[in-house]
Amino acid sequence: MRESPIYDITPFTMLDYPDSLAAIAWFAGCNMRCGYCYNPHIVLGEGRIATEKLLEFLRKRKDKLEAVVLSGGECTNFAAIGELCAEIKKIGYKVKIDTNGSRPERLSALIAAKAIDYVALDFKAPREKFREIAGADFYDQTLQSLRLLIASEIPFEARTTIHSALLTPADISRIAEVLCSEGYKNNYCLQNFVAAKKTLGNLGKPAEKFNLAAVSSPIKVVLR
Ligand code: SF4
Repeated sequence: MRESPIYDITPFTMLDYPDSLAAIAWFAGCNMRCGYCYNPHIVLGEGRIATEKLLEFLRKRKDKLEAVVLSGGECTNFAAIGELCAEIKKIGYKVKIDTNGSRPERLSALIAAKAIDYVALDFKAPREKFREIAGADFYDQTLQSLRLLIASEIPFEARTTIHSALLTPADISRIAEVLCSEGYKNNYCLQNFVAAKKTLGNLGKPAEKFNLAAVSSPIKVVLR
């Protein structure tokens, strides 16, 4: 693994891995183009940190951290992600991936190899709005990733970023319905749009607040 797929490393977070102190590796590049993305520099940028550097950093921090989050960008775009997860687990860390669900074949390999311990799966939009929201139509792949995770024993969460100009309560209700009909039993997590200085689609703060009370869902919806 001589490549440098990582854009940056956050050395410490208490927020990104449930109940564990973690570091985050931000992978450069993404195969989606969500207008609300607040990491355009990572999505459009080049990787500059080698995987060996990340492993070196993790070996040094072993007594301070418990977990590693592979985020981005889209970490499953990195072809050697399975090898990397295996190396991270060898050091003794739990591994979480944040994924947009577009590469079910890589996710499947990670699950089969027991290379990951937790997954946050973005469910960007209902089918008819997927391309508009994500800039690419990966709805079927997202659904396939959801099914793989439901069939696995790996703890995971499905989540959607909300911006009232993009997704309506009816859209969220439709996603919740799909999640439920596929057998998803965990909380459905909604994340408010982060009004960053620069987003991929130059989206500003929504004019109206998202009306959470209008969401009708057969599963529990939590707002973060
Ligand atoms: S928000 Fe969209 S564009 Fe940004 S990293 Fe996630 S999937 Fe890629």
